[in-house]
Amino acid sequence: MRLYTSLLHCFCLITPVICKELYPQRSIQQRDYSNEKVYRIFYDDKFETVRDIINSEINGSLDIWSNTADYLDILLNEDQWKNILNTHTDLQYEVFLDSINDEIQNTITQELIFNSKSNQMNFNIQEQNDDDAREILGDIFFNEYRNLQTIEIWLKLLQETFPDLVNLEEIGHTSDGHTLNVVHISANNYIDNPDKKTIVITGGLHAREWISISTACYTMYELLLNYGKDKKATKYLDSLDFIFVPIFNPDGYDYSWTTDRLWRKNRQPTSVDQCPGIDIDRSFGYQWAKSEEFPCSESYNGEEPFEALEAQYWDTYLREIKKDYKIFGYLDLHSYSEEILYPYGYSCDALPRDIENLLELAFGLAKAIRLTTRKNYDVIAACKDSGSDLTPGIGGGSALDYMYHNRARWALQIKLRDSGNHGFLLPSKYIRPVGRETYASLMYFCGFILNPEM
Ligand SMILES: [Zn+2]
Repeated sequence: MRLYTSLLHCFCLITPVICKELYPQRSIQQRDYSNEKVYRIFYDDKFETVRDIINSEINGSLDIWSNTADYLDILLNEDQWKNILNTHTDLQYEVFLDSINDEIQNTITQELIFNSKSNQMNFNIQEQNDDDAREILGDIFFNEYRNLQTIEIWLKLLQETFPDLVNLEEIGHTSDGHTLNVVHISANNYIDNPDKKTIVITGGLHAREWISISTACYTMYELLLNYGKDKKATKYLDSLDFIFVPIFNPDGYDYSWTTDRLWRKNRQPTSVDQCPGIDIDRSFGYQWAKSEEFPCSESYNGEEPFEALEAQYWDTYLREIKKDYKIFGYLDLHSYSEEILYPYGYSCDALPRDIENLLELAFGLAKAIRLTTRKNYDVIAACKDSGSDLTPGIGGGSALDYMYHNRARWALQIKLRDSGNHGFLLPSKYIRPVGRETYASLMYFCGFILNPEM
């Protein structure tokens, strides 16, 4: 009965139209992007020139969306872009995203369309047995992106539904008063897992990368659902512990739903009142270096290492609460560009230990993805993605480097879909395919760790 009460509670949050007395809908006033576009500038062997041009035009407040070997995607207003083109007529470029407001609405308003169709499904949920209810909950939940409030309820429901496997832990409170939740999944089987070998998966360090959050939830749910049914999942969950942080940046994620869909940082106050927010993924205390960027920049990394509360809580949690757990694997989920990045991000001169095995693992993940959905993810060094190969010092303080250096035997970052059409504004119809391919790569990761030759 408790399960069904929770299901209904969760369902009301997902479908406020049919439960409007309980949860009146909030009106969503998103920031207007009608004067801005995302431009894709091709390097054409002129990386430094392109970077210098952009830097000089907008005084260091860059909002770079993606940086590959061939091109740079950057958000600019149209006046800035015209100025650039006036002085640099030979730039090779295309407009990557033209109608940003429309793309934003495509990721948010789908929730309303779903609401109007859901009355029948809500009724049926209460008629199901436990197994069916679990599957229906997964089916409904992954139809659309879910806001912070809905995911928090869903996590509690997950704990109630799988009480022997799931332990929800609160590890701190953010500057806006949200809870930083960790989901520890364990079969508590210390005969099969005497060393407490653990895989850690994080999502949503950057608020606007919604697919990383839905994917963390999807892989977690799939693992739980398959335990006791699928041979591989059962073996892996018996032999390994899993620690998920599906929303590493709750303040930023909430803000991306209520106010600015393209917000990236957390929401912590800075020295400039109008410009809150620290880039969590540049705040960790390994190879952190003060950058020249101002608090108003999307990549501002604070005044000192671990200034971002979320990074600080995570560090304390790992050192104190989980000090006995041997972290064998770390996967940090981001978007976009379909790449698997291996350490280090801060410098291309720093070679990772056992590079052969690390590369074998990274290519194994890419192969598992390709065999599942035929998507080809590239494997590259994180320093190339961060640009620190050409501009030293800008890639320090990442979660990937910190975890690899301090705790995780093997650590990778996956930049999920897509590479060509939507960027951060990936439509919700991709939640399941991206979830499936990432789950397949996690299964490969488990097999790799449990291989006695490793
Ligand atoms: Zn990111």
